Amino acid sequence: MKLDPEIEKILDKALAGEQITRQEAVKLLQVDENSPELYAIMSVANTLTRRHFGDKGEVWAQVGINIWPCPKSCAFCTFGEKWGVFTSRVELSLEEVVSRAKAFEDAGANAIFLMTTADYPFGRFLEIAKAVREVLSPDMPMVANIGDFGPEEAEKLLEAGFQGAYHVFRLREGRDTEIDPKVRLRTLETIRDFGLALAYCVEPIGPEHSPEELVEEMFRGKDYLAASLAAMWRVPVPQTPLYKYGMISQWTLAKAVAVTRIVVGDSIKAMGVHEARILPLRAGANQIYAETGPNPRDVLEDTSKGRGFTVEDCKELLVEAGYTPLEGPSGAFPVRPKAVSPLTD
Ligand code: SF4
Repeated sequence: MKLDPEIEKILDKALAGEQITRQEAVKLLQVDENSPELYAIMSVANTLTRRHFGDKGEVWAQVGINIWPCPKSCAFCTFGEKWGVFTSRVELSLEEVVSRAKAFEDAGANAIFLMTTADYPFGRFLEIAKAVREVLSPDMPMVANIGDFGPEEAEKLLEAGFQGAYHVFRLREGRDTEIDPKVRLRTLETIRDFGLALAYCVEPIGPEHSPEELVEEMFRGKDYLAASLAAMWRVPVPQTPLYKYGMISQWTLAKAVAVTRIVVGDSIKAMGVHEARILPLRAGANQIYAETGPNPRDVLEDTSKGRGFTVEDCKELLVEAGYTPLEGPSGAFPVRPKAVSPLTD
């Protein structure tokens, strides 16, 4: 079978460990979804991942702490104040967050993420995080998924025992969100400068996004030295403005994962997909999420009763996709004996 020579040349470059360009990444995303070229792209991404990570698959587990109408009202998010999906303020107690985080570790998760809405009080978040840190094994990575923050907060996150942060410049940031794009970029700079390992993601992908927009975020994650990169589809939540665009297919998500994996090369320590499905796990992804508590893609207060997967679900899926679930802590978020930051040096 003959492939488009231009696509073949780009893929040979990727297999040789060379960096592909933005234009080449766009070219890969433009291939027809029923073409042999797409299978070749996914095969190369799969090869790169299995060559770099072996057969190890990772489960990262996130505890959502609160559901509040969020004033940022991102046009895809179930928490957005303007969309009226959630009108009351619900918050897990400190004890509940601690117990869910510990249960995730006991079930075999490889990293624990704590998530809040953008306006959750930072002091309260730290108080909860410190309590979680005390019950987790010292070498279990703890990762913050919160609103934008600056150097002072970064210092405090390190002191509280975080090793990483999930932070993203969302697709159409500032247009589909009410957050100043410059603020998002400043937070990404802070994360990099303070040595928090960055979990980055091309998200939330909808049918309306162009290849150029996706490629921009793939390279942004690489440029900010992401420890892990991922691609995530947007779940159309009724009542949110972007609901009308619908959802990309699992196949399109797999294509985005594959091209992201090829763009980022071997600079990452894990390649994620969200939400977890088999096809992207055969197209370069080796890391997926378990979730409990609130979730911006779900209309249930506790996503573990809705869209969220358990650690066991994730492990089963990894095995189905030909991976062996990693035992113990992820290597994507190096644990320091003592927090080190530019402010304390
Ligand atoms: S995505 Fe984050 S910032 Fe945007 S509305 Fe939801 S919770 Fe708020």
